Amino acid sequence: MSFSGKVVVVTGAAGGIGKETVKAFVEQEAKVVLVDLEQDTLESTAKDLNLIEGEYLLVAADVTKEADVEGYVTKTKETFGRIDVFFNNAGIEGKIVPLTDYPSDVFESVLNVNVMGVFYGLKHVLRVMSDQKSGSVINTSSISGLNGIAGVSAYIASKHAVNGLTKTAALEMAPYGVRVNNINPSTVDTRIMRTFESAAAPDDVAAAREAFTQAIPLARYGKPEDIANLVLFLASDKSSFITGTDHRIDGGQLAG
Ligand code: NAD
Repeated sequence: MSFSGKVVVVTGAAGGIGKETVKAFVEQEAKVVLVDLEQDTLESTAKDLNLIEGEYLLVAADVTKEADVEGYVTKTKETFGRIDVFFNNAGIEGKIVPLTDYPSDVFESVLNVNVMGVFYGLKHVLRVMSDQKSGSVINTSSISGLNGIAGVSAYIASKHAVNGLTKTAALEMAPYGVRVNNINPSTVDTRIMRTFESAAAPDDVAAAREAFTQAIPLARYGKPEDIANLVLFLASDKSSFITGTDHRIDGGQLAG
């Protein structure tokens, strides 16, 4: 699955899933654009991954600010001339409290990152891809976009919105040969899960981890590389007849 000559933009690139996906694309010879909040975490990510000068671009940007999003799209075009793959992945989890106690400002901030950030990314990247008449977008939703979970109202609402944006964008972009899909992971071993574990059992995080593991038929957390493998498939021509679809990657969690 070579991505030689392809330009791949990843948001949330300094995080658990984003970084592993950048690594996987680089192994397949893609040029990569890493987008995340802080320049220093981007630089340490590039160093960890031994990225090669001229083959990558780092852009510190807040995906909730449309001007920042226009900025990373413009810089990518100026540097590499095109965008072949867009992994629209930055996200936050918010609080884990009942809806009736949910702080409204936190609810709004979750929607800002997880919905407005995804929307701005789609709006500006799809302009480039529709002009090119090619491209593949992968939005990071969650199994939280496919069901309800008590205590997680903002995150659930935001990920359901991502699924809807994906389907709409897929329909609008199909005439241009541009594909748009969702991935819907469950429990992946990254920083976000530390928040869920601490909220579930503040005094016994190991017990929370065990309980989350038992909810997964394959009896393990997902690894960031599991997610990267699916993203690469959806980015590649091997998935050329797949668009507008949710792709559950959850060790069987929602199969029952
Ligand atoms: P993570 O916290 O390790 O990574 C998220 C990254 O997004 C961080 O590097 C963070 O700095 C960046 N980010 C947050 N707000 C941003 C903003 N406003 N602008 C730019 N960047 C911003 O967590 P992760 O697990 O790698 O999460 C990646 C995606 O996967 C998220 O959308 C998350 O909702 C989704 N997801 C994660 C899990 C899981 O169990 N870890 C499950 C389902 C879905």
